[in-house]
Amino acid sequence: MVTCKTIISQLSDYLDDTVSAATREKIERHLRGCRRCSAVYDSTRKMLVIMGDEEVFEVPDGYGLRLHGFVDSLVSGAKSF
Ligand SMILES: [Zn+2]
Repeated sequence: MVTCKTIISQLSDYLDDTVSAATREKIERHLRGCRRCSAVYDSTRKMLVIMGDEEVFEVPDGYGLRLHGFVDSLVSGAKSF
């Protein structure tokens, strides 16, 4: 039986298209039936798209923090209207 762990460990190979046809079919079948793995698959694929756009994908230190501050400022700005 195929576990989520197996699927997730093979996802990057699947996305790289380096898996056998049988493995591909196994993964696709699992993804259709498993929300958790299809969510992981979706976010991994999106991440790869981002990485494909940029030669080196690096999130600068504090980026998440600044983004939070930005969102906070938007929220407080909206409140003052
Ligand atoms: Zn799964």
